[in-house]
Amino acid sequence: MRPLLAALALAAALGACDSGGDDPDRPAPAPVRIDAQLVRSHLRALERIADRSGGDRAAGTVGYRRAARYVAGVLRGAGWTVRLRPFAYPWWSERSSSVRLDPGGALRHGRDFRPILFSGSGSADGPLRPAGNACSAAELAGVRPGDVVLALPAGCLFRVKAESARAAGASALLLADPARRPSTSTATLTVPGLGLPVVIVRRDLADRLAAGTRVRLSVRAATGRRRDVNVVGQSAGRGSAVVMAGGHLDSVPAGPGINDNGSGVAALLATAQGIGPRAPGAPVRLGFWGVEEFGIYGSRAYVGSLPAGERRLIRSYLNLDMVGSPNPVVTVYGKRASRLGRLLRRRVHPAGDTSGASDHVPFAEAGVPVGGVFTGATDRGPGGRPRDPCYHLACDRLSNVNVPLLTRLARATEATLVALSRQAK
Ligand SMILES: [Zn+2]
Repeated sequence: MRPLLAALALAAALGACDSGGDDPDRPAPAPVRIDAQLVRSHLRALERIADRSGGDRAAGTVGYRRAARYVAGVLRGAGWTVRLRPFAYPWWSERSSSVRLDPGGALRHGRDFRPILFSGSGSADGPLRPAGNACSAAELAGVRPGDVVLALPAGCLFRVKAESARAAGASALLLADPARRPSTSTATLTVPGLGLPVVIVRRDLADRLAAGTRVRLSVRAATGRRRDVNVVGQSAGRGSAVVMAGGHLDSVPAGPGINDNGSGVAALLATAQGIGPRAPGAPVRLGFWGVEEFGIYGSRAYVGSLPAGERRLIRSYLNLDMVGSPNPVVTVYGKRASRLGRLLRRRVHPAGDTSGASDHVPFAEAGVPVGGVFTGATDRGPGGRPRDPCYHLACDRLSNVNVPLLTRLARATEATLVALSRQAK
C-alpha cells in the first residue's frame, strides 16, 4: 500500500474520524471524580497493550496502534469528539555497524557503541581528533579532512555537532554518551540526510581515547518516511477559543513506557472523564501525540497542520510527560507570569522549575503560552537515588509509577484546565 492509503486504512481501523458526544440518542455520560483506581485502570490498560504487543508501544508498532484505539475509546466514552490525525515522519533503521580502534581493537555493538538515530550511512578510516563540544568553528579549527572527530555531549544539539564536524571535513563523528549506559539514551540527530556517520561511544571509553588513535568505522542504515497518527479529543463548550493539554502516547522500543509517558496519558484521560462531555467555558482539547521519542514529530506535525487562524484560537497548552516518577521531584516548566503558569503552580505546588524538550516545544514556537509538569528521569532525587530508575527501560511498568502522586497531578490538571476554560475568551 502507498503511505497515504496505509494511513487512511489505519484511521479506518481505529474507528471513524469524527464521532463523539453529538449523538442525540445516547445519554451524555456524567463527569466522574478522579481517584487512584481510575488512574491505575488506564496505566494497567497501557501495560497490558504493551505486553500483548511485543513489550512496547513505540512509534509504528501494533502496540502504538492499540494504545491509540484505547485512548479514542475512553475519550468517546467520556462524551468527547475524537479526531485521528495521520502525519508523516522520517524513519531510520540500523542495518549493521562496526567500530575498530588501533590501538584498542573492535568495540562491542550495543555495549561500547551504537549509531545515533538518523546517522548517515558510510565508512571512515582516520585519526581521532578531540574537538571539545564540537559546537563552534574554533573548537573544530584543528580538524583535517578525513579525521574522525570526538565530541563531548554538551553545549549544543547533536545535529549541530554533526553539521559542524561535516563542515570541517571530518569523515565521521564519535559522540561521548550523555548517559552512563548507552542503552538508556535516545540520542537523535532529529533529521535524516546529514550524510555523516555518527556513533555514540560509552562515556568512560570515550574519556580515555587518545588523539591520533586510528578509527575504522562503518554504519549502514535504511531511511524512509512512515505515517502514524495523533489522537485529538475535544469536549463541548462555549465560543471558538480552546484550552489545550497533551502528552506523548508512544513509548521507547525498549519497554512499555508506563511512567514515560503512560502517566501523562492516564492523567489526561482521567481529566477528560473528570470534566465530562461539556467544559464550563471554552472547550478543552487534549492531544495524544505520536513519535515523540524519535524527535517530537507528532505534536510538531499537528501544530504545523493548523491554519494560522485556528492556531491563534489555542489560548494555552499544558504538557504532561513523566508525571508519576517513583522517587519524584515535582517540577514545572513554562513562563511563571502567564495565566497558565500561575494557575498551574497554584495547584501543583512544585519543588522547583525545570526546562526540557517535549511536545510543548512546537506550541511554544508557534506563540502559544505553554506550561508543563515533570517529576524526574535519571537525575538524582530524594536519598540520592534516580527519580526514575526505569527510565527508557523494560522495567518502566505499572510498578514503576507513583500512583498517589499521579492522581494528585491528574486532579491538578483537571482543576487548571477547568479554570482556564472558564477564563478563556
Ligand atoms: Zn517522555
